[in-house]
Amino acid sequence: MNKKTIRDIDVAGKRVLVRVDFNVPLNAERQITDDTRIKAALPTLTYLLDHGAALILMSHLGRPNGQVVDKLRLTPIAQRLRELLGHPVQTASDSIGPEVEDQASALQPGQVLLLENLRFHKEEEKNNPDFARQLASLGDLYVNDAFGTAHRAHASTEGVTKTLPGVAGFLMEKELNFLGSALENPQRPLVAIIGGAKVSDKIAVLERLISLSDSILIGGGMANTFLKAQGYEIGDSLFEESKLDVARNLIAQAQQKGSRFLLPSDVAIADRFAADADHKIVASSAVPQGWRILDIGPAAIEEFRQVLAEARTIVWNGTLGVAEFPEFAKGTDAIIDILAERTKAGVLTIIGGGDSAAAVEQAGAATKMTHVSTGGGASLEFLEGRTLPGVAALADKG
Ligand code: AMP
Repeated sequence: MNKKTIRDIDVAGKRVLVRVDFNVPLNAERQITDDTRIKAALPTLTYLLDHGAALILMSHLGRPNGQVVDKLRLTPIAQRLRELLGHPVQTASDSIGPEVEDQASALQPGQVLLLENLRFHKEEEKNNPDFARQLASLGDLYVNDAFGTAHRAHASTEGVTKTLPGVAGFLMEKELNFLGSALENPQRPLVAIIGGAKVSDKIAVLERLISLSDSILIGGGMANTFLKAQGYEIGDSLFEESKLDVARNLIAQAQQKGSRFLLPSDVAIADRFAADADHKIVASSAVPQGWRILDIGPAAIEEFRQVLAEARTIVWNGTLGVAEFPEFAKGTDAIIDILAERTKAGVLTIIGGGDSAAAVEQAGAATKMTHVSTGGGASLEFLEGRTLPGVAALADKG
């Protein structure tokens, strides 16, 4: 990574403004149901505190759309952060304004202040320069550790750097190094597993992965569009009529490049889209009318296992079936087991964020992978080869 990190700057006695990604899922009682993202920020926060900085932390939570929404205040996050950091955390009633400025300027080394939800101001997502300047004025230095938001040019991820040059935190560095090394200079064979609902969401990443990988394994709802494009009858399965040509094109690209492009040879089908639907396993060429594909089947899992057994690098994005329904999570769970076993054998396993990362977390297998990204959209855009504005805005090394 050619960006400066917190190791490259002297933070002692400085007020460091840190963009973190504390956009964690909350239940109806406002309890945090997954604190992975808070935990992921701890190495940076601990390092800065140990090196004599005072911290001003800023994050968004949910989609308040520029309004103050009490349900989306960061209070539960401040509480969890106190517990995880083992350190007092002050809170602010806003992210800008005179009161926050007073709180920030009174901070002493070793103290932590968490600003209120940035997206209570519509100026945050609009990357409003004035709002960005007000945020920047709170700190002496800026650190971006919010990989999950780095694909957005917002005031707190991009605008602030206009007046307060910034460096990467450890999480940002780790994400860029792992996601970058997986594709830029991979140990081969490189195998990509791509699932998820739709081809249309992932055309760019499919194109890039086809150009870089030795083998591509396709599952999830998007496999249906590829099967249909190959002339298979897929019953009532979800597919994208308007993307059949794109699918044919992608298959042709893989053929031209000489990389293996594997669709599931068998599938789990259901008589309706429901967790308790009637279900059975059939060949992908034998999906009856009135049934829909909701997962890859056991033969496909075995074929995928064989390809993965040869891989030295594996990149995975998107569930292989409707993993929300336990009966149709079998393909996704099998891939998680295979990847955990491959990781043990020294293979680099990189899980893009979003649904696949959530499935890995839910299976308790996150520590069994080389890297599970904390960024959904950000990891997808990065894997597409795009420059993330929040990364581009950070100071270059050298
Ligand atoms: P994505 O966000 O693109 O990674 O897609 C994940 C979503 O795809 C999940 O909500 C899955 O339920 C859905 N999905 C995966 N396989 C299928 C399928 N065969 N039919 C319908 N939806 C699917």
